[in-house]
Parts: sequence; structure tokens; C-alpha cells
Amino acid sequence: MIFDILSLFPGMFASPLSESILGKAVDRGLITLRIQNIRDFALDRHQMTDDRPFGGGEGMVMKPEPIVRALEAMGREPTPHVVLLSPQGRLFHQGTARRWSGLPRLVLICGRYEGVDERVARHFVNEEISIGDYVLTGGELAAMVIVDAVTRLIPGVLGNESSAVAESFEELILEHPQYTRPQEFRGFRVPEILLSGHHAAIRKWRRGHALLRTRQRRPDLFARLELTVEDRDCLGGAEEEVAAEGRHADAGGDI
Ligand code: SAM
Repeated sequence: MIFDILSLFPGMFASPLSESILGKAVDRGLITLRIQNIRDFALDRHQMTDDRPFGGGEGMVMKPEPIVRALEAMGREPTPHVVLLSPQGRLFHQGTARRWSGLPRLVLICGRYEGVDERVARHFVNEEISIGDYVLTGGELAAMVIVDAVTRLIPGVLGNESSAVAESFEELILEHPQYTRPQEFRGFRVPEILLSGHHAAIRKWRRGHALLRTRQRRPDLFARLELTVEDRDCLGGAEEEVAAEGRHADAGGDI
């Protein structure tokens, strides 16, 4: 899969996209990352990429010509899916990442300043996407988030294909709690059932705690679930365990 990123700050991408799993995906030819500097496509001799907003107001707006010229220079082969990063876009989620992981090519346009001339969004992109309800200083970090989330779903990128399937959001529920060695850390023990070797009981425990955690932390997701009889049984087990421990299964810690 090819990722084309249009940015005024290409240097921001060097380290995050060359380390760990993403770096390996590049080395193994599973993804190609191409970063274009929007400024290289500016028309005037001062290489201006922004200007004052028509109608007045604070800040600067990114001009349309350099962005559209960059898009045109990159060509249409393979067919690109062009995305403008914007806090006003539709929310990016795991389903979006799954959908895009099957594309041959994704183009991500990073805005800066007060954003991008509206004509780019209206006439030159396939969709506008936000990574969350907060405002970043630029689209670069959003682009990195998207490249990461999409890349790890491309077949062959993760060592163990099943690990992407069992995770949070793949099934609209949060993942169950995870523990590793030591069995006891500063007086806090790993739940006994996880040490029991009873696979069916462990599966039930994990399902129950995943459902309970989702209900507590993400009631919006929980409301969309259709629980089976078995799910209700698992959830009940988790509720009893938490009640017996006298703790709340909310998102907060002990301190
Ligand atoms: N004035 C704009 C508004 O109120 O919608 C915000 C512009 S923001 C400071 C500059 C750029 O950062 C945007 O053009 C966009 O590319 C990027 N950006 C900021 N927040 C984002 C978010 N939540 N998701 C995706 N991109 C974002």
C-alpha cells in the first residue's frame, strides 16, 4: 500500500515512521511512504502557501493552488483515496482503518494555521477526516495516527495475524485486561483464573471483563451490542467478581 502525505513540515515524519513495526513494514516493502512538501508546489517566488482569510478574521488559511498542484503532480496511478485531515471531518475509527487497509493508495493532506481553503475540501478530496474532538496545531500527527492504525491491519505487517482481530474495537468492545509476570507485584496479584490453565474458563473471564469494561467506560459502544445468553453469563461472572473484591470496574486507578 502506498501512503502519500502532503505537509508543510515533512521533517516531522522521519523518526515516527521509521521505527518499530512501521519501519519494518517499510523495509519489507509492505508499505511505501512518500512525503511531499506542499511548499515545493507554491507558485510565487516567495513560495507562499498561506494567505489572509477573505472576509477578515484571525490567522492564515492555506492556499488551494499548492495543494492541488501537489495532488496533480503525484498522478492518479494507482487510484488514490484522497483525505483532508480536519477537526471538522467525520471521525476516524477502527472501521475506517479496516476499510482503508484494503486500498492501493491513501493520500493524506495535512493542514496548518486556520486550516485549508474550503475549495480543496469541496472539490479535490474524497473525504474529510478528524482523529478526535480536539484541535491539533496541524494534520501531521493525525496523519501519523492514521498511517499507524491502517498499516498494522495490512496482512503480513503484524507477526501474529490473530492479534489484530481480538483487540479493542474490532468487535465494538474494549479488550479484556491483560497481565504478565510477575504473578504478584507489590502485593497485587494476577487473577487466579488466568493462572489456572482452564482455557474455557479463561475465555469466559476475558469475555466477561471485556463486556464489563465496555459498559463502564464506553456506554455508547455497549448500547450497540446485542448480547447473547452466554455474554450475559460472562458479564454476570465479572460483575460478581468485581463486587466481591469491593472495587468499581471504572476507568480510574487506585490512586
Ligand atoms: N480553524 C480550524 C477549525 O476550527 O476547524 C482548525 C485548524 S487546525 C489549528 C490546523 C490543521 O490541523 C487542520 O487544518 C487539520 O489539518 C489539523 N487538525 C487539527 N485538529 C485535527 C483533528 N482533530 N483531526 C485531524 N486533523 C486535525
